[in-house]
Amino acid sequence: MPAICRRCRSKPAEVRLPYARMSLCPDCFRRYFEDRIRRTVEEFKMFKSQDTVGVAVSGGKDSAALLHGLRQAFPGLKLVALHVDLGIKKYSEHCLEKVRALTRGLEVELHVFDLKRELGFSIDDFRLTPYRRKICAPCGTIKRHLFDELAREAGVKVLATGHNLDDVVGTMLTTFLAGDWSQLVRLKPVLPPLSPLQTRKVKPLLRSPEWEDLLYAAYSDLPFRDIGCPHAGGTRVRRNQELLEALSRRNPAFRHQTLNNFLRLIPILEKHVDQPPLTTCRRCGYPSSAEVCAYCRRVELVKNTLEKRRQRSKLNPLLRGINRDQANDI
Ligand SMILES: [Zn+2]
Ligand SMILES: [Zn+2]
Repeated sequence: MPAICRRCRSKPAEVRLPYARMSLCPDCFRRYFEDRIRRTVEEFKMFKSQDTVGVAVSGGKDSAALLHGLRQAFPGLKLVALHVDLGIKKYSEHCLEKVRALTRGLEVELHVFDLKRELGFSIDDFRLTPYRRKICAPCGTIKRHLFDELAREAGVKVLATGHNLDDVVGTMLTTFLAGDWSQLVRLKPVLPPLSPLQTRKVKPLLRSPEWEDLLYAAYSDLPFRDIGCPHAGGTRVRRNQELLEALSRRNPAFRHQTLNNFLRLIPILEKHVDQPPLTTCRRCGYPSSAEVCAYCRRVELVKNTLEKRRQRSKLNPLLRGINRDQANDI
């Protein structure tokens, strides 16, 4: 006989939550997921009910679960969805389709930044640069900057991102193992802006395991991408997530405990760790630790690479012509 849901005590349980020693039916699981979002937002005072909250949507399950979960948890809240079209062949078109279907279904206004149209290059173009094997690095830098720009255009002061428990603990562990304390401090659940050009960044899914985002999105019939990014590779964070996965099999609450310990550690570190001194990027005006920020440097790198390629392809037929003439002369 199937187990009965712990909450409603009437429907068959389908979702087992081993860390809470609880099994729920799909409806009660969805309510449990939404309650956790509400509690997380309140615990860290992420935003106020009168704020307009921007939600960074990628087309994936996490941000779909976030947008829908916020709508359910805070029915009166004004939400605006923000998306960056990265121009990755096939993948980005697929993501944009899902994002459009999601926001249409939830009747949420959508703002899209089209990288190729606005800046003249796509993330795929980084294949021509020294980043060819680690495209996630410049892609992350560019996305972070453009979400700030999109949020500003949309008049949004708070930006919610779909980082889940696995992402957050995986990144915390990676920075911890690298001894990168100033970066670890920046992983707090609410990151205040460093300049008026930036938004306050919040992570309402911080306590939601990745697997539950997937279940929630599936049970809620949300459209989300079913293909992977062609550039995603075995990053250090991914490897540490696999390590956490293995540890969680022994102790189902391992990730939750690790998160809570890091959350206690961060305010202590914050008092003792000096953040690198910040100046203003002389190109874009955003806070930066160098004269020109990482975003502007990467944009310049890819644009210069494309320009050199264009010059070469213009010259090539000429050069071939010269070579032919020389051959005729002989
Ligand atoms: Zn139930
Ligand atoms: Zn800059």
